[in-house]
Amino acid sequence: MQNILKRYFGYSFFRPLQEEIIGKILSGHDVLVLMPTGGGKSLCYQIPAIMMDGTTVVISPLISLMKDQVEGLLANGVKAAALNSMNDEAENVRVRSACLRGELKLLYISPERLIGELPYLIKDMKVSLFAVDEAHCISQWGHDFRPEYAQLGLLKQNFPQVPIVALTATADRLTREDIQKQLKLSDPDVFISSFDRPNLSLEVKRGYQKKEKGRAILDLIARHHDDCGIIYCLSKKTTDSVADMLCGHGITASAYHAGLSPEEREKTQDDFIHDRIQVVCATVAFGMGIDKSNVRFVIHYNLPKSIEAFYQEIGRAGRDGLPSETVLFYSMSDLIQLSKFALESGQREINMEKLRRMQEYAESDVCRRRILLNYFGEQSDCDCGNCDVCKNPPQRFDGTILAQKALSAIVRADQQVSAPTVTDILRGNLTPEVAKGRYETLKTFGVGREVPGRDWRDYLMQMLQNGLFEIAYEEGNHLKLTDIGRQVLYRGRKVTLAVVRKEEQPRKRSRKLTSGRTSSVVPVVPKSSPDKAVYSQELFDALRSLRKRLADDQGFPPYIVMSDKVLQNLCELRPVTVEEFGQVNGIGDFKKNKYGKDFVDVIRQFT
Ligand code: ADP
Ligand code: ZN
Repeated sequence: MQNILKRYFGYSFFRPLQEEIIGKILSGHDVLVLMPTGGGKSLCYQIPAIMMDGTTVVISPLISLMKDQVEGLLANGVKAAALNSMNDEAENVRVRSACLRGELKLLYISPERLIGELPYLIKDMKVSLFAVDEAHCISQWGHDFRPEYAQLGLLKQNFPQVPIVALTATADRLTREDIQKQLKLSDPDVFISSFDRPNLSLEVKRGYQKKEKGRAILDLIARHHDDCGIIYCLSKKTTDSVADMLCGHGITASAYHAGLSPEEREKTQDDFIHDRIQVVCATVAFGMGIDKSNVRFVIHYNLPKSIEAFYQEIGRAGRDGLPSETVLFYSMSDLIQLSKFALESGQREINMEKLRRMQEYAESDVCRRRILLNYFGEQSDCDCGNCDVCKNPPQRFDGTILAQKALSAIVRADQQVSAPTVTDILRGNLTPEVAKGRYETLKTFGVGREVPGRDWRDYLMQMLQNGLFEIAYEEGNHLKLTDIGRQVLYRGRKVTLAVVRKEEQPRKRSRKLTSGRTSSVVPVVPKSSPDKAVYSQELFDALRSLRKRLADDQGFPPYIVMSDKVLQNLCELRPVTVEEFGQVNGIGDFKKNKYGKDFVDVIRQFT
C-alpha cells in the first residue's frame, strides 16, 4: 500500500483512516466511508483498484467530476476511463472494449448508464470493486437525492461476491443508515472521520453595506496575490454586480447563475478550473462538480440559509490542505430576506430552524469552529485559534445608553420604521424615508451622530440578538419593542454590547522582485498550523507559471498537474536534481519522469 501511495500518488503518508479503509476493502469487506470534502476519499478506492485484479467500477453522479478524476489518474499513470453521455459513440466503443480486455484499473460510470450496462458489459468484465461516490444521493433524507441512485441495490443482488465501498461527505445518521440499507451492504465497516477542516480560517463580518463589502473583498484578494476564490451571493443580480466591480478593479472575475445558458456556465467553470479567471461570483449551484484543489478563499457575500449549505460551500476552499480563508458577511437585510423565504417555503418550521442555527453561528461569541463541529455532532473541547473569535475575542461595554437611544427612536417613530430608517434617524440623515415620516422633527433625530452608520447597524443586530426588539416581517420589516426592550428603555435594565471591530489595515504583498538572491519571504501559514511558515513568493509564482504552461499544453487543469501544496513543498525543499524532485511529497514516479526536468530547471535559477 505504502509503495503504491508513493509510486502513483507521490505521497509518503496516509491520512487518518485511509490505510484502515484500504485494508478492509482489500480483504473483501463492504465499507462505508464518511469524510469531509477534501478528506481524501478517492485514494481509498483508487489504491485498492490498482492493487486488485480486474477493474474497479466507480459510480459517480456528476460528469465533470468523472472527467476530473480520470484526468487526475491518467496524469499519475493509472489507466482509467469514463462511460457517460458526454462521450461520443466511438469513444464509448473504445472504452467498452478496453474494459472487456481488462486494460483499465478504474472505470467511472454514471448511475443510469451503469444500470443499462449491468447485464452486458459489467457482467462480462472482471469487476474488482464497486465504489459508490456521493453515496448520500441514494437517500431521500439527504439534500441531493437522485432517483437514478435508487436502483443501486442491484449491485449487491447481481454481484454478491464483489465488495462495495460507499463514500460521502454527508454524515447524519439517517442518511448513513439509508445508504447501508439501500445498497444492501453486508455488515459493512463504517469509518467516520472528523469533519474538522483546520486549514480553513473562519471569519464573520457584520453589518457591512455594499461599498464596505467591496472594499473588504478587494483587500482580501490583494492579500491573496493571484490565488483563486469563489464568492457566493444570494441573487443573480448580485453575482453580476460583484463580478463587474471586480473586473473594474482589474481582477478577472465572472458571474455564474441559473440565468445563464448552459454553455456560458460551462465556460465559466472551465475558465476557473484552468486558472484563466481568478474569481467566480456564483449563486449556490456552483462548485458541485469540481474538485479544484487550489481554491484559496470562499466568501459569502450574503448569509447562507443553513449550516449544511455553508459548510459545504466553504469546504470547496483548501482541498489541498493549505491554509485558506473564508469570510461570511452578515447583515440584517439578509436575515430578513431569508426569513421570508423560509416562511414562504413548504417546510416553514424546518427552514426557520436551520436559519436560526446559521444565525447563531454568525452571531456567536465563542469559537466558531466549535459551533460548526457541534452542529455535526462532534464535540471539541478546545478553541481553534483560527477563527475571528479566537483571534480577536469580543470586548464588551455597557451599551445601555446606546440601546436606549435606538429604542427611543423606534418608539417615537411609532414602531413604524425598519432598521435602516432607525439608523438614519439616529445619524440625523434626512433621507426620503425620514422626510416622509417627518422623523426629522423627533427629539431623537441625530442623537447618535457620533457613532458611524456601520457601528449602528452592528449594534442594532446585537440588540435584536439580545431580544430587545423583533422584526415584523409581514409589516414592512418594522421593529417592535419586546418586553426586555421596554425594560431597557423605561426601567434602565442594563445592556451589554460588544465593541464593533475595526477593519485591520490590509497587508499587501509586495510583488516587486527583490534583487539578487534574496527573495521576499512571505508568511502564508497561520500560527496555529504546524507547517513551516515561510517560502519565497517569487519561486512559487515561477513554479505556478510553469505548472500553467505544462497544463495548457496537455489541456489539463493546472491543479491536476500539481496541487498548490506540492508547489509549496517544492519551494521549501528546492530539489535541484530529478531524483530529489521525485522524493518530494506529492510527486509520484510518473510525474517525476514527466515534469522533473522542467521544474528542476526553474528551481535551479533560484538557488
Ligand atoms: P474528497 O474526495 O474526500 O473530497 P480527495 O480524494 O479529492 O478528497 O482528496 C483531496 C486532496 O487531498 C487531493 O488533492 C488529494 O490528492 C489529497 N490527498 C489525499 N490523500 C492524501 C495523502 N495521504 N497525503 C497527501 N495528500 C493527500
Ligand atoms: Zn476558534
